[in-house]
Amino acid sequence: MIDPPASLRFRLLAAAFALPAVVVLLRIAWVQYELQGRYLEVLQETTTEYETISARDGRILSATSEVFATDVDQYSIEVHYRWLQEPVDETWLRRTARSSLSRSERRDDGLLESRQQDIERQRSDMWSAVMNVTGLNEAAFSERREKIQTSVERVADAVNRRRGQKAATVQPLPQQWYFRFAAQLRQALTTSPARSGVGRIVVREEESYHMMARNVPLEVAAAIIESPARYPGVRVVTSNQRTYPLDSTAIHIVGTRTPAADHEETAESDERLIDWRPAVGRFGVEREYELQLQGVPGRRRVVRNRRMEIVSTEIERAPVSGRDLLLTINVRLQQHAEALLAECLLETPRRFLPATDESQPQPVPTGGSIVVMEAASGRVVAAASAPAFSPRLYTDGDAADWQAVNADPRFPFLSRTIQTRLPPGSLMKVITAAAALETRTITADEPFVCQGYLDRPDQHRCLIYRLYGRGHGTLRLQQALAQSCNVYFFSAARKMGFRSLRDWATRFGLGQRSGIDLPFERAGNLPGSGRPSDADRYQNETLGLAIGQSRVLVTPLQMARMMAAVANGGWLVTPHVVSPDGMARTTDEVDDRPRQVTRQKIAGLSAETLAEIRDGLAAVVQPGGSGHRTVQLPQVAIAGKTGTAQTGATEHDHAWFAGYVPADNPQYSFVVVLEHGGSGSRAAGPVARELVRKMWSMRLVGEDAP
Ligand SMILES: [Zn+2]
Repeated sequence: MIDPPASLRFRLLAAAFALPAVVVLLRIAWVQYELQGRYLEVLQETTTEYETISARDGRILSATSEVFATDVDQYSIEVHYRWLQEPVDETWLRRTARSSLSRSERRDDGLLESRQQDIERQRSDMWSAVMNVTGLNEAAFSERREKIQTSVERVADAVNRRRGQKAATVQPLPQQWYFRFAAQLRQALTTSPARSGVGRIVVREEESYHMMARNVPLEVAAAIIESPARYPGVRVVTSNQRTYPLDSTAIHIVGTRTPAADHEETAESDERLIDWRPAVGRFGVEREYELQLQGVPGRRRVVRNRRMEIVSTEIERAPVSGRDLLLTINVRLQQHAEALLAECLLETPRRFLPATDESQPQPVPTGGSIVVMEAASGRVVAAASAPAFSPRLYTDGDAADWQAVNADPRFPFLSRTIQTRLPPGSLMKVITAAAALETRTITADEPFVCQGYLDRPDQHRCLIYRLYGRGHGTLRLQQALAQSCNVYFFSAARKMGFRSLRDWATRFGLGQRSGIDLPFERAGNLPGSGRPSDADRYQNETLGLAIGQSRVLVTPLQMARMMAAVANGGWLVTPHVVSPDGMARTTDEVDDRPRQVTRQKIAGLSAETLAEIRDGLAAVVQPGGSGHRTVQLPQVAIAGKTGTAQTGATEHDHAWFAGYVPADNPQYSFVVVLEHGGSGSRAAGPVARELVRKMWSMRLVGEDAP
């Protein structure tokens, strides 16, 4: 074998060099075109998130512009994670130090080192400054700090673990040796160089602020804002908190709203606003008018790069305040009504209520309600429910406070004016009288002789018979109402039958919700219209209904509404607590046109019948009437009806007084009920009198009234 010619040797050599060169070129080309694009993409990758700009919710105001509910600013202190993380993140420390130096200074290692030490010193100074200004002690601060760090690390670890699992998947190699060689070559050429450690993903939580102290005083917030150099990495966040300046006044009507819990679905939630939960009305006006009151928060769009530095921010939507509501409630009268009830629920001497000369002391009631309503329109000017509670429970209440309210057997959360269901007792005789007159069962002038009982001395009796063993004697409708003769109404009810009586109870609004603009109103109960097969049961049901016993149950509001109908000429009004003028604006989002407050004429109720009943109710407070001694006022004539509703053998009776004032020119209807409070005239009567005395002194009724 002689040497090949020089030219061939040259070609072989050239090929031997060219082959690796081609491989290298291929790799370069791939890196150039493929990898570069990928790296640039990663560098330019941004994340977008949305921050909340808080909006104020609408206020709730009284008829005379006192504030029941309003939003106030609440300041919270947040600290950036890197300024809390322990030990300090070296990458962040170097980056922060470098960014504070000029390009030439950065080359000086000593300077960089001392700048890093400065930042670490600033960090620990800031910690003590925050403890100082917020009053957090070292243990509390550390606990808070560690809690933040633990939760952030958990998120970061989870994200990075998922990423590691994705990278570890390797594609299987083909069977044939030449394909396998080609695949291995391709893999070697196209695999990105591994970077140990530095590839850890930074999560948003590591580059954002975390809550350190909630609801700090304005001075604390101001101190931090005024000296940013002392508080690096600290920011003050302003949000709104619902407050109730009149505390428990009308709390059952006003209600409360609190931030939605995580599991609650709300109409207004915005899934893009991660740090915002809408407030939810829990009861009262806050719940009924939730959409009108709810402010819509603004949204700020924040774009960050891969290092979580903010690239741009933009206000996408400005915040919109909620609408104010004007209640019909008169604060002074409401507070007086609440004070009267609060006194009744105590055993101590009474300040507002005069001492009565009655020999029999009345029992301490377990709860009470007062409603005062404009008779013609249904505007509720006072609606008191006792016992009450403070709305501060929802903001500042601790477990012991909640325990105390929840353990109260009288149920302070119950909005009694619309939710308690009580037998109306003799208040029902107003309806029985109307039914008996309109069905021509009786006439008002027809005399009737009460012997003290209906058929047998042991049942269906008058109170006078139980006490003194005699009857009322001869009486007409007016005296029957004034002296609350049971036998008169038993007799009338038996003649007209159950169905007529029930029908008239329905016409006066019993057994149905009044439609007041408050949530959770109850309808009470009206026994069924079907005639029981048993004749005795049928008779007992009819007679019981005639005097408001048996199974008929009413809310205090229903009785105020019934009295309003008697007072206003026979119109069944829709009670309401939000003034229709209080909601004037309408937008696309919220329809808050004034509510249609309707009233409906009671069918078949004549002016003559109403006049007879009104004469009877006026006589109740006159000499000889059941309410004369405890209700009559010299200043203004009151008309009404006492009610003492039996509740069974062991418990005290419910005490009622309901009516309207002034008797001759009615403006307001009202109701007072004391649960298990004893006699209607002796327990509820004096409360009604003091209520009307206050209305007179406030010039709501009387000669000077508008
Ligand atoms: Zn009688």
